[in-house]
Amino acid sequence: MSIPFVPRIDDAPYAQCENVAPLVQRVIARNPSKFTYHGTGTYILGTHNVVVIDPGPVLDTHRDALWSALHGRKVVGIVVTHCHSDHSPLAQWLHDETSAPRYAIGPHRVYEDFVEEDDHDASEDEAPKEKDHEERETIDLAFSPDVAVSDGEKFFSTSEFSLTAVATPGHTSNHLCVAMDVDRTLFTGDHVMGWSTTVVSPPDGDMRAYIDSMHKVIGRNDAILWPTHGGAVTDPQPFLQAYLGHRLERERQIVQQISSGNNTIPGIVKMLYANVDKGLHRPARRSVWSHLRKLVDEGVVVTVDGGPPRLLATYALS
Ligand SMILES: [Zn+2]
Repeated sequence: MSIPFVPRIDDAPYAQCENVAPLVQRVIARNPSKFTYHGTGTYILGTHNVVVIDPGPVLDTHRDALWSALHGRKVVGIVVTHCHSDHSPLAQWLHDETSAPRYAIGPHRVYEDFVEEDDHDASEDEAPKEKDHEERETIDLAFSPDVAVSDGEKFFSTSEFSLTAVATPGHTSNHLCVAMDVDRTLFTGDHVMGWSTTVVSPPDGDMRAYIDSMHKVIGRNDAILWPTHGGAVTDPQPFLQAYLGHRLERERQIVQQISSGNNTIPGIVKMLYANVDKGLHRPARRSVWSHLRKLVDEGVVVTVDGGPPRLLATYALS
């Protein structure tokens, strides 16, 4: 099932404040990459008293553009969808400048006992080891909200709009989508992107939680989705169904590979991502890994050695 991606916004301007809906403005940071597409879209909601969603990465041009977009207005709230370094770091600066409270589910979870396995395969034409930081979204461990919000909580109101928290764990365990009660609008952060499937990378990325969160958003009645990366989704239901269908299809293919004896993650990626740039095979392994962790959780798959579902484990159908 292919995903009906929304119109591309490759030519959307950087460091400018665009009016994208009556109460919504967007400033895009010049941080394009294989994780961020054209760049991070920071949203400004409201006319005079405004809320900023995901102030974005530490980038002088973005900070200055945001500051001029906010000139003459009062920032009354800062919302962070999650703590990847392209979303949350400028929240500290904006809070220091405005004293506006920062809202989020919580800080990024820390995994002290987690040992990362080295899956670098020198025989493969893949990104060299020293480029590891480009293979993973980096995390802003410094961020902590002033106000922790909970799922379903109407956590903010102005005379123009109110905002409700929609907890959507999966991309990260603390991921938050934000519903605005004007035009049935949902700001989806990285839970739903307008240009690509979302990265779900263990240990904090969790495919089982992600799929539950997809069902949750499908069960809502939003009329428009604004992702952090990519353009607006103006017909959410078919898009979300296809987005979820793509994951379930991938899971079915993984089970099928294991049943045919291709039972390691690098082997599965070689088969299922044969037509994808090899530079993306390492992130793809983490995605397959997140599916296998889910399948082991659900009792569909086991590890051959009986141990935990590691990146370099060998798998079998249970
Ligand atoms: Zn992210």
